[in-house]
Amino acid sequence: MIPAPLHPREDARLQALADAELLDTPPEAMFDDIVHLASYICGTPIALISLVDRERQWFKARTGIDGHESTRDVAFCAHAILDNGLFEVQDAHTDPRFADNPFVTGAPFVRFYAGVPLTVGDDALPIGTLCALDRRPRRLTPEQTEAMQALARQVVRNIEVRKAALRTKALNDELQRAAAALGTSEARLQALLAANPDGMVRVARDGTVLDRKLSRDRAILPDAQHMIGQNVADCFPPRLARLFLQQLERALASDTVQTLELQETVDGRACDKELRIVASGPHEALALIRDVTERKLGERAKDAFVATVSHELRTPLTSIRGSLSLLEHGMVGPLPEEALEMVQISRTNAERLLLVINDILDLEKLSAGQIDLSLRPVDPPRVLASAAESIRGMAAQAGVEVVVGECPVGAPVLADEARVIQILNNLLSNAIKFSPRGSRVDLSVEAGSCGRLRFCVTDHGPGIAREHHARVFERFHQLDASDSRKRGGTGLGLAIVKSLVEEHGGVVGLDSAPGHGSKFWFELPCCRGGGERP
Ligand code: ADP
Repeated sequence: MIPAPLHPREDARLQALADAELLDTPPEAMFDDIVHLASYICGTPIALISLVDRERQWFKARTGIDGHESTRDVAFCAHAILDNGLFEVQDAHTDPRFADNPFVTGAPFVRFYAGVPLTVGDDALPIGTLCALDRRPRRLTPEQTEAMQALARQVVRNIEVRKAALRTKALNDELQRAAAALGTSEARLQALLAANPDGMVRVARDGTVLDRKLSRDRAILPDAQHMIGQNVADCFPPRLARLFLQQLERALASDTVQTLELQETVDGRACDKELRIVASGPHEALALIRDVTERKLGERAKDAFVATVSHELRTPLTSIRGSLSLLEHGMVGPLPEEALEMVQISRTNAERLLLVINDILDLEKLSAGQIDLSLRPVDPPRVLASAAESIRGMAAQAGVEVVVGECPVGAPVLADEARVIQILNNLLSNAIKFSPRGSRVDLSVEAGSCGRLRFCVTDHGPGIAREHHARVFERFHQLDASDSRKRGGTGLGLAIVKSLVEEHGGVVGLDSAPGHGSKFWFELPCCRGGGERP
């Protein structure tokens, strides 16, 4: 017996066989019919659709024998798949390849074999055969040969149709599963939306309202029914719309949640609203709108209390500091060294306390809207120079150089000059505090967003991790509690900066990463024409 060599493209052929998804599947009528036809046309007792696997042949359809498979080395079909047309063995007894084959010497006592390869795919790889076998020697007539080849083509067509049907079914199953999953998550989303007391607006990048959900408290979005398809500029009050569009742009650019708070009069009552805007796609965002009137009332009461206490503390504290200073400078006679040291410590701490109180009072005035800005065209190079000059002493003491950069943008900003210097001073004193000795702090101006001018204070200090960027602008927020002792500070400076900048209609921001220094910036609106507030 001489086993057949492997097919020249055996790996690809086995892959094509696996892709056909036929091996070890139950019988199917469309293949059974063809083997019956082949047996009838050829007049043979046995006919098979045999698939030649790596080490076996497996019968997808069979008539005339009982087994499902045999080893590949004894398979006639392993020879037939190497042939292009019909592979015929007229008498196995006289063929040295098959004379001692166990199927020839034993059951089913094969003498005659005729097989046509089943070739699939663009590469026409033979995955098996359609074959007819007899127990006596013989040969097929030309008509029988032609019929076997036609039937083999039909088997291949059936395999392809079956595969397409399987693929469609798998796709359908997947679609059904996805639809079911979508239904569940949609239902969950609807439940969440219904449970959420907030109002919601989905907006496109240009501010067009795509969708909205009324809150349980209708006061939050009074005209919500008419909003879809409109721009927020046309359906929100002007100040809210302006701030909303600004924050929308920032939320989409930075992929962070932007928060906005404002007060409105609804049905004659003051209503505080909080908007949280978050990107919900590359070109759209979701704004959650919540009534925070009660919370704000509480906060205002607390702020007013703190302000009153601070105010009441300031006068006696100023006088304590003055008296300590007089004592320290020997106005009432020289002090013993130990007493002098005590007086100095008391005076420094009184000064720190005064600093905190002044910051608290400043912030209180800002949040109560009691700070009157005197808006005038302000020349950027002039404020940069003034701010640098006023901080020179602190910089020299810290061994830090403050460098004022070129001012490439000429347009003046519409601002309160003293407040801009206060903002710059706060940022500069932080930058100097956090800078290593011998390093520099840069003060510069560049073009900002929405036609605004951006003022930047850049240092080479420790930098701030991204997750703290928004929080450093909150009241009393210090990244490292020991900083206030080491470097001094109240944790209110940046909160004041933010309030002052926003009072100007501007925005604040921070670019920083640990180990790469910090760049604090704020943007102020440029003057338009006559210098009125934009
Ligand atoms: P403080 O008076 O404590 O400086 P701020 O509100 O000005 O309060 O700053 C809040 C916190 O932000 C600081 O305590 C510090 O942790 C961090 N911070 C501010 N500026 C810088 C900076 N330039 N480099 C590193 N950290 C800074």
